[in-house]
Amino acid sequence: MEMTFNEAGPKITGKCGKCGKCYKKCSFKAIEKGNPYRVRSNRCDDCGDCISVCPVGAIELSSPF
Ligand code: SF4
Ligand code: SF4
Repeated sequence: MEMTFNEAGPKITGKCGKCGKCYKKCSFKAIEKGNPYRVRSNRCDDCGDCISVCPVGAIELSSPF
């Protein structure tokens, strides 16, 4: 049996300007506001929406697909 559970999710890097766009975009409420913003891996669905919406490219996939 193969466990492919990905608890990593994307990572928000130091480039984050705290604009809140990823927070609003995430349908799973997986992004937590703060300094820095962070992704709650247990809620994240790896949909990638936050990555596409970030204006400064601060969100990176932590694992290659
Ligand atoms: S969209 Fe990008 S810059 Fe804006 S809060 Fe999220 S990670 Fe930070
Ligand atoms: S990948 Fe999708 S579910 Fe995960 S934090 Fe980004 S928008 Fe939310």
